[in-house]
Amino acid sequence: MASTVGLGIFLALLFAVLLRPFVTGRVGVVLLCFLLIVSASVSHYLDAWGVLFDKGLVRNMVETDTREVRELLSLPAFVDVFWRGILPAALLWFVGIRRAEWKRSTIHTALLGAMAAGVASALLATSYGTLASTFRNHRELRFQLVPTNYINAVYGYLKGEDVTSGAILRIAPDARRTPSLSARPLVLVLIVGETARAANFSLGGYARETNAALANRDILYFQNVVSCGTDTATSLPCMFSGLGAEDFSVRKARERENALDVLLRTGVSVQWLDNNSGCKGVCARVPTQQMPTSGIDGLCGEDACQDEILARSLEERLNEVKQDTAIVLHQMGSHGPAYYRRYPAPGKFQPTCDTNRIQSCDRQALVNTYDNTIEYTSQNIARIVDVARARAPAMDIAVLYISDHGESLGERNIYLHGLPPMLAPSEQTHVPMLAWLPARTQERLKLPISCLASVAGQEYSHDNLFSTLLGFFGVATAAYRADLDVLAIARASRACGNAPLRLTLK
Ligand SMILES: [Zn+2]
Repeated sequence: MASTVGLGIFLALLFAVLLRPFVTGRVGVVLLCFLLIVSASVSHYLDAWGVLFDKGLVRNMVETDTREVRELLSLPAFVDVFWRGILPAALLWFVGIRRAEWKRSTIHTALLGAMAAGVASALLATSYGTLASTFRNHRELRFQLVPTNYINAVYGYLKGEDVTSGAILRIAPDARRTPSLSARPLVLVLIVGETARAANFSLGGYARETNAALANRDILYFQNVVSCGTDTATSLPCMFSGLGAEDFSVRKARERENALDVLLRTGVSVQWLDNNSGCKGVCARVPTQQMPTSGIDGLCGEDACQDEILARSLEERLNEVKQDTAIVLHQMGSHGPAYYRRYPAPGKFQPTCDTNRIQSCDRQALVNTYDNTIEYTSQNIARIVDVARARAPAMDIAVLYISDHGESLGERNIYLHGLPPMLAPSEQTHVPMLAWLPARTQERLKLPISCLASVAGQEYSHDNLFSTLLGFFGVATAAYRADLDVLAIARASRACGNAPLRLTLK
């Protein structure tokens, strides 16, 4: 409650700081009258219709016809807008605003700014965790904040941010694969995890046995892997884009091909199986199957089915494999805040936090619940490895798992994820990665597992995925970088009897 009031005061001060320099004399009156009336109208429709004001709504308004507009106009609407907007604007019009000299107005702005900064620091010190998780859980709030919601929406609409030209930039146009001499298909199963953080993987030294299911399965774990972003919408496109974290933007990625497109173009069959909220554009040109969200006995809850469903689908897909194939499995993983729904109850670690209001739980219960999701993810990776192992006599198959970003579980009062990578704690950016390669695949790739093991402790990031995927399938192109391909790094390692790979400078 105190944080809500504090936030209200902060926002009022912030808007005052932004407006103060312009609010002087007649210009100030006109500007404020305009803001008052438009804000009252927008607020009325937010309250009455429960709509969110985004650029989609602006587009609808622009493209609407007069009949629809008439339906929106009513006496109660007019009364509300009159009361909240027109009346204050009329008062302001008659009272007017004195023209202020710039010195005075600068001092006022500075004072307001100092007050806003003071309130902001107090809020951050006392309720950072609550506010951060509220904004994270309720992204819709920014579409409800008047007047920035409609200013942003109109700006976004005019900028046409979601209108891409339709032409997708071709990357790696020179990509080629040398025809394989082997009759056996080369198959990569790539599991893209969700919200799994390396800190809770016992393979990486976590004290609890969260990866027991992976023991005795010849899994190779990579200790130091950093994610590109701290949310799915950034990390997923980023890791397949080949842009690298430094050059990446969601918009850039949406307008160009990614690693999967290059694989498709060079004759690799690519499939995307999704048990999450979609592939964020990565699979736009790839055969995709969204997993069902209900109807499978014992596997589905209110809003989704457990990740086991992916192993079942994979089994069917592998039965049909005739050529070199990449199959991406996008898991639900540890997607919060309802961690307790991400695994079959009761879970190995008890007691648990069976609510999505995770701040209200005992911290240990919250960690138990999250650890149960990791333990369940381990079981699923094990299932997938077993499915792959069963097919290994017929194909050269490998399994690679990598998480999209980590998660905060209340450390320093931070929950969930999505902080800007510059500020994000390592819990949100240090992600688990692991690989499974049976003997014949090692032969096919000319990569003894000992070579790969010798470089497993090095530092990697999502930037490595693009070239590793191309390298796995032997795609030659100028866009491929051997110094980022984990397999090439391993082949060139000293443990493999070679001098370390010379890094090419960008
Ligand atoms: Zn994610």
